[in-house]
Amino acid sequence: MSQRFDAAERFAEGAQYIGGSLRAGTSGRRHAVVDPATGAEILDYELAGDADIDAAVTAAERAFPQWAGATPGERSDALHRFAAVLAEQAGDFARAESAQCGKPLRLTTEFDVPGTVDNTAFFAGAARHLEGKSAGEYSADHTSYVRREPIGVVGSIAPWNYPLQMAAWKVLPAIAAGNTIVLKPAELTPLTSLMFARAATEAGIPDGVVNVVSGAGKDAGERLVGHPSVAMTSFTGSTAVGKRVAELATTTVKRLHLELGGKAPFVVFDDADLEAAVHGAVAGSLINTGQDCTAATRAYVQRPLYEAFVAGVADLMATVRLGDPFDDRTDLGPLISHTQRDRVADFVDRARSYATVVTGGEAPGGELAKGAYYLPTLVTGAPQDSEIVQAEIFGPVLVVLPFDSDDEGIALANDTPYGLAASAWSRDVYRAGRATREIKAGCVWVNDHIPIISEMPHGGYKASGYGKDMSVYSFEEYTQVKHVMYDNTAVARKDWHRTVFGAR
Ligand code: NAD
Repeated sequence: MSQRFDAAERFAEGAQYIGGSLRAGTSGRRHAVVDPATGAEILDYELAGDADIDAAVTAAERAFPQWAGATPGERSDALHRFAAVLAEQAGDFARAESAQCGKPLRLTTEFDVPGTVDNTAFFAGAARHLEGKSAGEYSADHTSYVRREPIGVVGSIAPWNYPLQMAAWKVLPAIAAGNTIVLKPAELTPLTSLMFARAATEAGIPDGVVNVVSGAGKDAGERLVGHPSVAMTSFTGSTAVGKRVAELATTTVKRLHLELGGKAPFVVFDDADLEAAVHGAVAGSLINTGQDCTAATRAYVQRPLYEAFVAGVADLMATVRLGDPFDDRTDLGPLISHTQRDRVADFVDRARSYATVVTGGEAPGGELAKGAYYLPTLVTGAPQDSEIVQAEIFGPVLVVLPFDSDDEGIALANDTPYGLAASAWSRDVYRAGRATREIKAGCVWVNDHIPIISEMPHGGYKASGYGKDMSVYSFEEYTQVKHVMYDNTAVARKDWHRTVFGAR
């Protein structure tokens, strides 16, 4: 069993990181970070108030000219040092993330933390590779070129499901491109975002370039989105809150980047490797206890494989070990909170009237009863238009439905408002190829489901939002393009002036 994480000692000064140091919030309202595995409070902190948001934006504004004026090489060096500091503190980050989220230490150690170190190293490289059209004479009389410039102060808002990775996905492309940032993590999970900002300072990134305000969504979040000195809003979270953020950002004409909810389909054609599909569906639906925007949530299985697939998934789900996140043997931790556990349970309970709960469908008893645990759950027989098939549940729940023709499988996959991710399972390259073309999602895996890599973009279609995280595509979102055009003729009376002066 690994050592747990002492948040109260680490954040004794407070849970706001502004201008390069930790301080307490000034809202007059407190919030508790709770270990969802036990229900024990691990930090009680004062939420950010309006004055804290304003102070963080001011710190970011002051830091902007110097950071934006640094050469790409200087920013790259700083990000390389940042990656090294994060790697040195990897164990600490993994324990903090497990403590606040209930994620198994195996997951944080092998996925969340190394992924973040790799993202940081990627953006250290990307910082030196800004691309644009080549300069040239697109009009015979002029030379044109493009400058890519940072946007200014970015205000970012992140969810609780992958707090460290979400902080990284927001902060890294923004600062690599020369912006400064104020990040608001979810109130349930501020710890690793604060540690991430502090590690940036330890790596020599100037004070004020990365600020974290730990505040409530409705007030701190809305203050940040509406702030006149914030030039861009980048939001990851639910589609419902994303719509509100979009409204607010529009009133101040901010650039907007929205990474919203998902309901990923998992389409198994009848020539698929059944063992691979079963393992892929269980791992892909249970990762992070199903609290993953790209999790496999709706498996559509072609009729000849349907029964064997359902039986295989039920058997494999029964082998998954729920337990203490700090125990190396634990496969699955609790949900983020008791509230989220009850929300998931309510979805499954409502589905009992129209569908079959094959396995799971309840919280475990015994030692785990005090935590926010819920058993891996398999549901069949639900109509395509039912809530359990259409709505984002964000828990360890997989719905399986049969289909007959390839046309039908693809149509069902596309039949929700979301379009974040999907997978297609087949040994036939043409069938799989068709699915990759016709499924409307920002990512389509073939014969796998979940892996992400720093070099490739992550982002949605449809109600899953717009804009990309990770990769050079996200880097480009945090820059604005300026066209510079030089006259080459050196004549006072240009040809085009005829449109104003006529023949004179
Ligand atoms: P949420 O939408 O409830 O909250 C997200 C963030 O928004 C939090 O920091 C919250 O405090 C803040 N917020 C809440 N109300 C706000 C308001 N009125 N104005 C401004 N900010 C406000 O989401 P959640 O429950 O924290 O996270 C789960 C959701 O995030 C799921 O829908 C999931 O699919 C989505 N998600 C999407 C991606 C992606 O890349 N597309 C990644 C991770 C999570």
